[in-house]
Amino acid sequence: LSHIPLSTVGTKTTCPYCGVGCGVRASMQTDGKIVIAGDELHPANKGRLCVKGSALGETVDLDGRLLHPKLRDEHGNMHRVSWDTALDKVAGGLRSIIDQHGPDSVALYVSGQLLTEDYYIANKLMKGYIGSANIDTNSRLCMSSAVAGHKRAFGEDLVPICYEDLELADMVVLVGSNTAWCHPILFQRIAKAKENRPEMKLVVIDPRRTATCELSDMHLPVKPGTDVWLFNGLMSYLAHRGARDSAFVAAHTTGLGEALAIADADCADPHEVARICKVDVNDLLAFYESFANTEKVITAFSMGVNQSSAGTDKVNSIINCHLISGRIGKPGMGPFSITGQPNAMGGREVGGLANMLAAHMDLDNALHRDTVQTFWDSPRMADKPGLKAVDLFNAIEAGHIKAVWIMATNPMVSMPDANVVQRALSKCELVVASDIMEKTDTNAFAHILLPALGWGEKDGTVTNSERRISRQRTFLSAPGEARPDWQVICDVAKRMGYRGFDFAGPHAIFDEHARLSSYRNGPPQIAGHSHRLFNLDGLTGMSKQQFDELQPIQWPVTRSNSTDAAVTGTARLFGNHRYSHPDGKARFVATPPRGPAHLPDEEFPLTLNTGRVRDQWHTMTRTGKSARLADHVPESFVDMHPQDALRYGVREGGLARISSRWGAMVARVQHSGGIARGSVFVPIHWNSQTASDARVGALVNPVVDPISGEPEFKHTPVNIEEFGVS
Ligand code: SF4
Repeated sequence: LSHIPLSTVGTKTTCPYCGVGCGVRASMQTDGKIVIAGDELHPANKGRLCVKGSALGETVDLDGRLLHPKLRDEHGNMHRVSWDTALDKVAGGLRSIIDQHGPDSVALYVSGQLLTEDYYIANKLMKGYIGSANIDTNSRLCMSSAVAGHKRAFGEDLVPICYEDLELADMVVLVGSNTAWCHPILFQRIAKAKENRPEMKLVVIDPRRTATCELSDMHLPVKPGTDVWLFNGLMSYLAHRGARDSAFVAAHTTGLGEALAIADADCADPHEVARICKVDVNDLLAFYESFANTEKVITAFSMGVNQSSAGTDKVNSIINCHLISGRIGKPGMGPFSITGQPNAMGGREVGGLANMLAAHMDLDNALHRDTVQTFWDSPRMADKPGLKAVDLFNAIEAGHIKAVWIMATNPMVSMPDANVVQRALSKCELVVASDIMEKTDTNAFAHILLPALGWGEKDGTVTNSERRISRQRTFLSAPGEARPDWQVICDVAKRMGYRGFDFAGPHAIFDEHARLSSYRNGPPQIAGHSHRLFNLDGLTGMSKQQFDELQPIQWPVTRSNSTDAAVTGTARLFGNHRYSHPDGKARFVATPPRGPAHLPDEEFPLTLNTGRVRDQWHTMTRTGKSARLADHVPESFVDMHPQDALRYGVREGGLARISSRWGAMVARVQHSGGIARGSVFVPIHWNSQTASDARVGALVNPVVDPISGEPEFKHTPVNIEEFGVS
């Protein structure tokens, strides 16, 4: 069985991996060869592709694909069934559990891999029809701290800048981001800008000396978990060393007094900050001085900031520094959250998180709930935020949630304390998994498997880190009986007796999504929210052909007036210094520094940090197919300092058992030279399909940020010991 080529001339689509969202030209030749090239006209990458993107053609074969719906029998064996049987089982199973135990007894766990249209429909079903907000996403593990930080500071989840600003900046500060490996095309754009303007400064703040540091003018190897001290110290420095923009602060912000008092209390003395952060005080002062004296500064941050029990405060401590210096809303400056997944941003637009509603509205706001329910004309509406990812799987384990439908994600590998997921799925009454692959660690627990479309087969939109909506287009036939996720969700909804799920295709779903974003600003009862910025008004009413031809565009997307068809995207926000809080002002947020929830001790003396490697993606279901990509890093590893290896009796090249109070794994020891004493690093990708005991998620501590619910993937106390001679 193989794909049938639908296009041999080159289809413009979007890379399905990281949040850079590069444009790709892809086609399948009649001989079956996939041809991949960067799209020169896509503003995100202008023709460039990183090694993962350029290897896309090596990852779309049908080996291992789930091609038919399957049902598990009473002996535990999976059998092929018809779509009708599978859909009846899903709809009937959900209906029966809801009837017995109420709407909150079922859950959806979805993914930043879904297209916006799939995501929108999943949220509509769960929040507006089933009437529960127990739908969360693996984006919770990735950027929910940035979302919460944006909402606190700006009143809405808004990314102020665009990629071009990285090239216009005179100083780029990368915090907790190995951009060179995890967002390679953004890094290449920064590198090119620096080559053209050697005076441009690059500062990297990261406990590890990563590939990103090779280009940096300064690396601050901050002690894990101390970022808030460092940025509170910067805020205090800016306030008292003549870098405060008093006019901007007075006109466009509130809350400086409290936030600055907190920053001054613990962090006014750079020597003390340097001691706490374990960085050289002269380097710290040089960074502070450089920030204070450079007008065009971008502070870009990623998982090293977000994935923390203090992640939201870390985000706000960064934003505070841009607000106090007025460095926001103009070209080449501002805070910038780099998102990890291809459609983390699209998921945020449609309310993909358990505490959000579609079109940037909030579940805990009665007016917003009423607005969405009125627009959907739905029978009910979730009346409170649902369970966030970690709590959701805890609730399954506790028996409170009895059915879960997992789409396009592999929580058995990716969740912290992943053994909880194993126990939860083992006892859950109904586990449904929509996936492109048949065998994954998670699918092993499914009662019903539903074959989904993969990249090249599906059709819809994604939104990248700079708010740019791009089309993913079809150039490969649907293999076997695989179907689009949106269609499967609609079919289940209709079988459950719900109206509102008849869509002619992704273009019709996108239109409803766009109309909701402008409807929110329309009805008189919500006039008080008309200052919200997320708006797709200019993209409403598109025909299928217009949707097919949609060019990449950044929201807000407006139409100049009702008779004028001119549609305009928005490169950067806050040029008019109007924020989404009711008074139109941005908020300083007080961020009292606090350390990680669990510190190393005698039993678990080292700190585990986790992250990506350059050539793999998530749990390797796709990138794992490419021999070229596997060549870069062929197996999982634990990177550590040679003196720590000596101390704990492990040797480079040998196998080590790494354990925490939550679980254990085995990996090969390496010394990259980039790890400080006391820390170890393990990549997130390997899993039980690649080797036994290879899931780092089994070790990671499940503590979460109290505001965002994002887990602390960067700071788990662990022990390490020799496993055996390889
Ligand atoms: Fe794909 Fe990201 Fe690489 Fe671009 S940088 S080609 S979006 S993986």
